[in-house]
Amino acid sequence: MDFKNSEKLYKKGLKHLVGAVNSPVRAFASVGGNPLFIKKAKGTVITDVDGNDYIDYVLSYGPMILGHRHKKVEKAIKKALKNGYTFGASTKNEIKLAKIVCDAFPGMDKVRFVNSGTEAVLSALRLARAYTGNDKIIKFAGCYHGHSDALLVAAGSGLVTLSLPGSKGVPEGAVKNTLIANYNDLESVKAHFEKHDDIAGVIIEPIAGNMGVVLPQGNFLKELKAYLETKNALLIVDEVMTGFRSKFGGAQELLGVEADITCLGKVIGGGFPVGAYGARNEIMEMVSPLGAMYQAGTLSGNPIAMAAGIATLTELKKQNPYQKFDEIAARLEQMLREKANKHGVDIVVNRYGSMINPFFKRGVVTNFEEAQESDTKKFAVFFWELVKNGIFLPPSQFEAWFLSSALSEKDLEQTENAIDKAMEAVAK
Ligand code: PLP
Repeated sequence: MDFKNSEKLYKKGLKHLVGAVNSPVRAFASVGGNPLFIKKAKGTVITDVDGNDYIDYVLSYGPMILGHRHKKVEKAIKKALKNGYTFGASTKNEIKLAKIVCDAFPGMDKVRFVNSGTEAVLSALRLARAYTGNDKIIKFAGCYHGHSDALLVAAGSGLVTLSLPGSKGVPEGAVKNTLIANYNDLESVKAHFEKHDDIAGVIIEPIAGNMGVVLPQGNFLKELKAYLETKNALLIVDEVMTGFRSKFGGAQELLGVEADITCLGKVIGGGFPVGAYGARNEIMEMVSPLGAMYQAGTLSGNPIAMAAGIATLTELKKQNPYQKFDEIAARLEQMLREKANKHGVDIVVNRYGSMINPFFKRGVVTNFEEAQESDTKKFAVFFWELVKNGIFLPPSQFEAWFLSSALSEKDLEQTENAIDKAMEAVAK
């Protein structure tokens, strides 16, 4: 396997693109080498510009839950294209997608579509502030909620991978209302409420995927919600990654918790730029044009993206792959453990639904601090050996691997062989 064309494009890309990428997690910063340039993808297979095929566990960081270019999604996109690309006015499909989304999340009477997960979350925070009249927001260390100023603190994968503590260019004032708590530690949330009486709400990744996969322990989310109710503060659940992925009704359905405000992205756009935030009527009625909280978007509710989203969610509901995801993830966990054991490599495997990843360390990973104890040098060796054996996974220790419903037995066999070789390489 060689990567000559990727290398050439990388060098060429450096001239007019920053680091030759449009999102830093694509830069291979912590695993070394040049980023791969992709030519095409179909089903479970992604192909780079050198003609190398890989089984894809990145899935564009989650959206491609049915695999690439599912025929029903493609048909819907082609049909939508014929009517035009964007109108700056409402369309029937926005109502259709809104209904699918609101039906899946009982806590959502209304939804507003935006263009990315980042937009969904920053709008959700504005809404929480508008509704409660309070300014402070609590977030958890290691959770990533997009790149808006207020949330670029202790923000997980991209920043840890690049060893950045936060981001330059974020003014102190922008983060002065952001309080940090520890994942799975309700006491750390309570401590903030004891000090401040102007907290609007708490934002959380219900199953964290941006410090690697980290699971809420016990009834953490339920207890958090019950506590926030006593404080009149809102629970903002960021389901950009988990929405329609953990279950059709997201992690909230899986964990039996109802958010006050839910943020969505990734899967709901079927591969096109869509985000959304939604809540019960009394909260959403704060949003313009019904209320005084302003939020807008030239391309929001884009017709092509709506068509792709509707087709994806309709097919997903029909397939109902959640049991299958759990079985495949269990098999991957077993493979990772068996091969690690065979070659004497220490790993911790965390998984939930269709998100999984191994950490190269002993013990457990229940929060950001424990995730950061992983041996990223070992991960880099593991990563490249998997790539060389036809497996595409996120180039960071601190990212989840994603499963698609298109995965086949043959894909899993190839994955198992590749993991065996990769663990052997790590052990050397
Ligand atoms: N929230 C979570 C939980 C995410 O995982 C991400 C992206 O990975 C975002 C928000 C930001 O979404 P986007 O990259 O679409 O802006």
